[in-house]
Amino acid sequence: MKSLYARSNDELMDILGLEKPFQARIVHGFLVKGTRSFSEMTSLSKADRERLMELYPSTLSSKVIAKSEGESAVKLAIELDDGAVIECVRLSDGKERYTACLSSQVGCAMGCAFCKTGTMGLVRNLSAGEIVEQFVHLEGLGKKISHIVFMGMGEALSNFTATMDAIRELHREDGFNISYRRMTISTCGFVPGIRRLSELDIPVRLAVSLVSADDETRSRLMRINRSFPLSVLKTELQHFQHRQDKRITLEYCMLSGVNTSEKSAEELRRFAAGLDTVVNLIPWNSVDGLPFETPSRREIEAFCHDLRRLGVSYTLRMEKGGSISGACGQLASNTRKRG
Ligand code: SF4
Repeated sequence: MKSLYARSNDELMDILGLEKPFQARIVHGFLVKGTRSFSEMTSLSKADRERLMELYPSTLSSKVIAKSEGESAVKLAIELDDGAVIECVRLSDGKERYTACLSSQVGCAMGCAFCKTGTMGLVRNLSAGEIVEQFVHLEGLGKKISHIVFMGMGEALSNFTATMDAIRELHREDGFNISYRRMTISTCGFVPGIRRLSELDIPVRLAVSLVSADDETRSRLMRINRSFPLSVLKTELQHFQHRQDKRITLEYCMLSGVNTSEKSAEELRRFAAGLDTVVNLIPWNSVDGLPFETPSRREIEAFCHDLRRLGVSYTLRMEKGGSISGACGQLASNTRKRG
């Protein structure tokens, strides 16, 4: 079964064999509330309910097959209708603010060297409905979610249309009603996607996984840099900022002995100059089989000290999902398509 989420009224009428637009609006309202069975859609006629229950035992095309909980993060493994498995995470800031971290693809083609998802390769893009269903599953955990980040599996900007359709659906006033300003798309620096995003009237926030501001190091760690080196990326970010007037987050995954030197800090300062950015430092969480190490507390502090001295604005994020492999670059294990 294909997802019923992120559908227009016309599509819902067509798929469900409904005759009137108001029936589609009723169904949409129940879907947004997370209603799992047509039997509960009591505003539909009994005949419609029975017919639809017969066709669709569940209103969701995907199902949760595993759940793991850490101190402030819950990770769900979700099986899609073709047997592929993705992961998504609900993060909590400890003050009743919940953020959904959603996947946009099964696997990822970008192959960043420090990322577990990158080891999978790209299996397929997710549909808009499959992206929205992750949000529904995460809200099904019982807390209202106010923020969304596209930082799960995949490069969201290379699955552009579906991601934007999902974002519009999650924003709809008669739907989940999440403000665009509370949504963040993370990209590894996929320049054509950043350009397309800047041309839309969808004022979501942008986070760029920078990792290094030295072309040689970045090209080694992130293949995307061979196609779109730092100078090209920076020009695109300036263009984006000119159009959208929004502070950009530079995600900086700290890899011990790789990108934490004084020289790295100076390169980062140079890259950030002329942009309105904040650097988000994320000490790498170790992933089995990948040849990197988490920086020590001392190494992290020294790098922070260098950034302060250079006047680079930064935040330090100690990963919330690390203990459950739900942190940046860790969503991939056991998630290959079955069969
Ligand atoms: S860091 Fe992001 S873009 Fe790079 S391989 Fe991982 S999921 Fe893909």
